[in-house]
Amino acid sequence: MHIEVRGLNKSFGDFHAVSDVSFEIEKGKLIGLLGPSGGGKTSVLRMLAGLETPTSGDILFHGKRVNDLPPQERGIGFVFQNYALFKHMTVYDNVAFGLKVKKQPKDRIRERVMSLLELTGLKGFEHRYPHQLSGGQRQRVAFARALAPEPQLLLLDEPFAAIDAKIRTELRTWLKELIDRVGITSIFVTHDQDEAIEVADEIMIMNKGRLEQKGTPWDIYKNPETPFVASFIGESTIVHDIGRIKGFEEAAVWEGTTALIRPEYIEIGKAGEIRLQSATMEGRIRQLHFRGSEWLVEVDVNGTTLKTYRSLEKEAFHPGEEVSVLVHRAYLFNERDSWMMENR
Ligand code: ATP
Repeated sequence: MHIEVRGLNKSFGDFHAVSDVSFEIEKGKLIGLLGPSGGGKTSVLRMLAGLETPTSGDILFHGKRVNDLPPQERGIGFVFQNYALFKHMTVYDNVAFGLKVKKQPKDRIRERVMSLLELTGLKGFEHRYPHQLSGGQRQRVAFARALAPEPQLLLLDEPFAAIDAKIRTELRTWLKELIDRVGITSIFVTHDQDEAIEVADEIMIMNKGRLEQKGTPWDIYKNPETPFVASFIGESTIVHDIGRIKGFEEAAVWEGTTALIRPEYIEIGKAGEIRLQSATMEGRIRQLHFRGSEWLVEVDVNGTTLKTYRSLEKEAFHPGEEVSVLVHRAYLFNERDSWMMENR
């Protein structure tokens, strides 16, 4: 289903939970709605579902305004974090529920339920009750149940939040494959950036009721449009006084400019080891954090602490050691603009 949202607002009293949010979603895309707690994600999802009335703005499905349609007429399937399965019903009856409500013929229901149980890897579990299943299995039943009435949009609110870390990783890969196979437009809310980056075709980042950026995970990581987005996605250092970073001094001319520097654009080495001598600064190692596959290194340069990585194959540094530091690239932001600068 193609979705368009125009100028969406939601206020609770004089508090603006959602402020002027507009976006379009192409049919078949899996969208991660990402942001910190209280950012307005759930409110947007609930308005799409028809569970909450917008204060203003339009919601269009296939180009048709649905603001006044009740949830059951919007062609939507839901999955929530707390499973919300019917406890007194078997897996089969849970999945069949939406089809029975629609008064579909018994044979047709059986066929659909069995094919969904097959699709979600739950064949053989049809007679079990929710309490006889693991968390991951219960969540798969919730997916099967949401998909049963063939919705055109699937809304997922923190679908993995109640599941432990290892199973969660498996389940999200599984969900992505499932959604690709079914080809249904889906939006899932999460506050976990790794989850959004790994699973979503596109990410929408919400903060304080506003949609800060929408794009592919790659695009958002490479071209963050606001300092908030840049600091929310990936590791980075925010530098308020860019004049202190060699090669970027001219950016300090624009007042109120903040710089964001990603670890992979900082090079550190023993004195003299770095190629671009003209822009090399002196720094001192502050701390090293072992990350399993590499070191995360904090290095002080002209009163600013920068974070970078050091691969395990290279010789490790020790705290207090003097090193050369070169910043290759910085993202710059002020009130009006965001742009990128490079040391070449
Ligand atoms: P979380 O990840 O914590 O669920 P969220 O990004 O989904 O956060 P929302 O649940 O949309 O955020 O809430 C946005 C803001 O609106 C919050 O500050 C919340 O307290 C407020 N809010 C949500 N629902 C109501 C309500 N029914 N009445 C009053 N305030 C509300």
